[in-house]
Amino acid sequence: MDQRQEELATNLDRVHARIAEACTAAGRNAEDVTLITVTKFFPAADVERLAALGVSQMGENREQEAGPKFAELSPSVRAAVRLHFIGQLQTNKAGRVASYADVVQSVDRARLVRALDRGAAAALQAGDRQTPLDVTLQVDLGQGADQGRGGALPEDVTTLADLVVASESLRLRGLMAVAPRDLDADGIRAAFDRLATLSGELGHTSPDATWLSMGMSADLELAVAAGATHLRVGTAILGSRPSAE
Ligand SMILES: *Cc1c(COP(=O)(O)O)cnc(C)c1O
Repeated sequence: MDQRQEELATNLDRVHARIAEACTAAGRNAEDVTLITVTKFFPAADVERLAALGVSQMGENREQEAGPKFAELSPSVRAAVRLHFIGQLQTNKAGRVASYADVVQSVDRARLVRALDRGAAAALQAGDRQTPLDVTLQVDLGQGADQGRGGALPEDVTTLADLVVASESLRLRGLMAVAPRDLDADGIRAAFDRLATLSGELGHTSPDATWLSMGMSADLELAVAAGATHLRVGTAILGSRPSAE
């Protein structure tokens, strides 16, 4: 183990301990919470180190970074890792992402649903993927006030969900959100509760769409308390990113 791998192992242990503690406090089972390690800004070598530590779910937020990075991985590591695309996605890059991502969490508009569906269908036909593309709908919990992070308005979730369910090559798994900026713990808690309520409503028409992807390095405890099934954690495992986003 090199020094970087030891650092990653220590950080990973800390995050697992935080999740375990949050689950205990919430009366939840730690197995019901999936940790996605967000490797954006960090090299393929770190993905390889994390995979060697048993990490199997990775997150990336930019196509121009994720594509080349994951193409660099050794075939055995690539096969062992599930890649969640979690960033804002332009329609003209959707086809590429649909060819290599296992999940796209940031689906927030009808045009993107159609572009991903076309891309996933083409990738299935070409043999680049074997299964439909799992997607979650990203919801804007800032009521449009928190621009730049994307997300559909809550009132548009049902229409988008219907579109995914009616698609050929996409599978609706649930909802995703990023907590709006500049909120205190109560505000974040309220935002996560809103997403959980929307998820419950979605469950009436799409009973398989059970994922609730919310919670990052700073707020994972609040997310677990509100019922998160998927956490997306970068900084707490990889360290500070080299530049501001
Ligand atoms: C970067 C990112 C994360 C991880 O954030 P950290 O604060 O580093 O844990 C989670 N979700 C999305 C959508 C991101 O872009």
